[in-house]
Amino acid sequence: MNEQLQSPNRSRQGLTAREIEERRHLYGLNELPKVAAVSPLRVLLRQFTNFLVLILIAAAAIAFFLGEKVDTVAILFVVLLNAALGFIQEWRAEKAVEALRNMMSPRARVLREGHEATIDARELVPDDIVIVEAGDSIPADMEILTSVQLFTDESALTGESLPVAKPRTESVGSGSAGLFAGTAVVSGRAEGKVIATGRNTAFGEVASLTGEIGEKQTNLQRQLGILARQLGIAALVVAVAIFIAGVLFQRDTLEMFMTGLSLAVAMVPEGLPAVVTITLALGAAAMVRQKALARRLQAVETLGAASVICTDKTGTLTENKMTATRIWTHDRAYQVTGVGYDPAGRIEYEGQPLRCSDDAHLAALLNCAITCSHARLLHRDNHWQTVGEPTEIALVTLAYKGWADIPDPNDLAEEMPFSSDRKRMSVLTRAGDSPTIYAKGAAEQILAVSSTVQGKDGKLPLVTAERTAILAAEEEMAALGLRVIALASRETGDDSLEERDLTFLGLVGLIDPPRKEVAAAMQGARRAGVRVIMVTGDGPVTARAIAGQLSIPVQTVLRGDEVDVLSPDELQQLLKQDVLFARVKPAHKLRIVKALQALGEIVAMTGDGVNDAPALKQADIGVSMGQRGTDVAKGASDLVLLDDNFATIVRAIGEGRRQFDNIRKFVRYLLSSNAGEVIAILVNIMIGGPLIFAATQILWMNLVTDGVTAVALGLEKRESGQMQDPPRQKSEPVLGTPGLAMILLFGSYTGAASLWIFYTTLPLGTDVARTTAFCAMVVFEKVSVFAFRSLRQPCWQIGWFSNPLLLLALLATFSAQLAAVYWPPLQLLLHTVPLDGGHWLTIAILALPLVVLPELIKSTGWLTKATVPD
Ligand code: ATP
Repeated sequence: MNEQLQSPNRSRQGLTAREIEERRHLYGLNELPKVAAVSPLRVLLRQFTNFLVLILIAAAAIAFFLGEKVDTVAILFVVLLNAALGFIQEWRAEKAVEALRNMMSPRARVLREGHEATIDARELVPDDIVIVEAGDSIPADMEILTSVQLFTDESALTGESLPVAKPRTESVGSGSAGLFAGTAVVSGRAEGKVIATGRNTAFGEVASLTGEIGEKQTNLQRQLGILARQLGIAALVVAVAIFIAGVLFQRDTLEMFMTGLSLAVAMVPEGLPAVVTITLALGAAAMVRQKALARRLQAVETLGAASVICTDKTGTLTENKMTATRIWTHDRAYQVTGVGYDPAGRIEYEGQPLRCSDDAHLAALLNCAITCSHARLLHRDNHWQTVGEPTEIALVTLAYKGWADIPDPNDLAEEMPFSSDRKRMSVLTRAGDSPTIYAKGAAEQILAVSSTVQGKDGKLPLVTAERTAILAAEEEMAALGLRVIALASRETGDDSLEERDLTFLGLVGLIDPPRKEVAAAMQGARRAGVRVIMVTGDGPVTARAIAGQLSIPVQTVLRGDEVDVLSPDELQQLLKQDVLFARVKPAHKLRIVKALQALGEIVAMTGDGVNDAPALKQADIGVSMGQRGTDVAKGASDLVLLDDNFATIVRAIGEGRRQFDNIRKFVRYLLSSNAGEVIAILVNIMIGGPLIFAATQILWMNLVTDGVTAVALGLEKRESGQMQDPPRQKSEPVLGTPGLAMILLFGSYTGAASLWIFYTTLPLGTDVARTTAFCAMVVFEKVSVFAFRSLRQPCWQIGWFSNPLLLLALLATFSAQLAAVYWPPLQLLLHTVPLDGGHWLTIAILALPLVVLPELIKSTGWLTKATVPD
């Protein structure tokens, strides 16, 4: 079953810079022709596909045929201005999404000029030597040079869902592809030589990791889309009714047609879905600056509702910078000095430094540690560089500290690789007289395949007392928060790698300090009502110790094998407590996510390995690691942590909450503006007076001035209280009762006030009255925005100037309004006349309560409870 490992040919150097250059010239980059990026023209055309805009264009045509040139031009002008504003905003969002996509391009590990390096997979050229391991996506078509237990997932290529065994290609240099671009390594490792890149690959899905960002609608977009449609239908019914009633009462047909139409425009928040998309896209860009890359816009939205974070430990809560500090053998306990990956420390026994030459047992242990490893230490430019995985690097550094012999990699004959499921690995080497197996892994996994223990006078049978002593030593190290690795070996006569009857050599304790930012992030999560559950492959005692250092409350520690025997109900009951999961396998993560979801939680789950993909997909927010994570895990996740840091998840949740709150703010704002207009128009029609707004004025208000302010509202900064509230329910409506109340209150006031101003100025003529009402409504709408800036705090607390873009938007719209009233061409289009100071003063006085009252009410604090999610 075990694949023979073709001895890695250490003379293999990989390509030289010149060879790379030549091949690049010949074959180009390893990429497929890009899926055509959205062109500016397409974004522009999209502005005209909106149903309402199409109706408006039709209306302009009708007006033209009826000889109403001014109205024709006015409608077209407003439509064009609306399209221009929409274009600018959507183009920005497109660019933000494109930048995110580019950040997701896959990487590849290559051997070049004798050194291993990780490069952009685009840079690969034929003949490059590439190293792939479990979880990597295969970046080009390759011939297999060496392989160990290699299985790949070729489902994307062949539809075959079972992993395919990949033996080494029969004759090296045969040039036939054994590994195909677009497939992924499920287990094992291999070195391959690239034989085809980019469009020359059999499948060439190199870009499969580019994610689906922006492709699927988010829940919120769907929810608001439905709302907009419902309002649209209602608007059409009302508009048609008004038109028919007007005609029946023998009012001017065109005027009634235009009124009905503009009322429809007033009722429908047509800009809403676009503003949501723009806000989410810009929000995702803001998240990247905080080191969280959202692969789907849905993640930005869901994050704000996250109620539980299940996080792994190593590398997310801890630094993943391991240093061996203790060694335990049957007869001795050693201390290790030095920090990090610099071998300049010492191994000490009772205060005396020791080397391998002084202590045969220590020598055997360190030889096992360095042989059963893929890590390497390189001394370059006066400092130590490392290659490989932190646990192994720490063990190799330890071996250097004890002056262990460095094994010849060519002696490596066979390997059973490490996996999170097995929690151990072993190799067979052919150095010296007899082939030897070396194994390392979690203590119980190594004990399970050992039958003797190395003592100072030779091997002793591994009886219960010995096992108990070993486990006690392990627990002692683990209680300090150390990660414990057990080592064992056996000389084998028959040259086959069978993990049995090993001789237990000892334990090594590795320190992996918690990340500095994590303790504060834990507190932040707790304040925000988000539970944190540690789910780690490491042992229970180590995990509990680290939880203690980070003040994570733990009532119960459950091991993976204990989870196995729990019924779904029992697991759910336990999950109501402060529980910690240790020694879990990836499959347990899936069960934990499902159980939490059954309890109604919104779960963020981290994962980095290939087998974590199902749990990441199942979680409401699958979180993968940008640095440590495999391509497969990244591909299955919604959010990639660029710095692998737990604190980033908490920051991203804060960002998600901000986005959702901001969306809620502008939805309420836009609808309350529309409500004011609709109330004014409807009440006025009922009174039977002359039209309060000209049709083009309504279009101007809704298509030109509202959207700009709403987008600026979407950029509000995070409110201080946002991370102190409990998470919102996922099903919580954007509007809700407080939202509807706000919309009605603002709508009634602005509607009534503009009607009042209209009728009080009517004696001066319809044009003056209409212009005053028009300006009043615009001013009302603009100044109300301050009330919607925060759902909790008055502006004097959050700062009147803390959203400069909003102020800029207000300045722009006020200037546009002045132009609408005083600039002759716009006067003509919008049927306005100049107003005098007295009119403006009345408008200002009427607008004042819209700013002052909300400030006063919010200052008293009682509204907070009503507007904050129930
Ligand atoms: P987390 O799930 O929090 O990231 P982890 O990385 O420790 O934790 P695993 O990778 O499943 O989880 O490791 C579990 C155990 O396997 C470790 O406690 C250690 O004893 C052992 N182990 C880890 N890395 C190696 C390795 N490279 N070789 C052998 N054993 C290892």
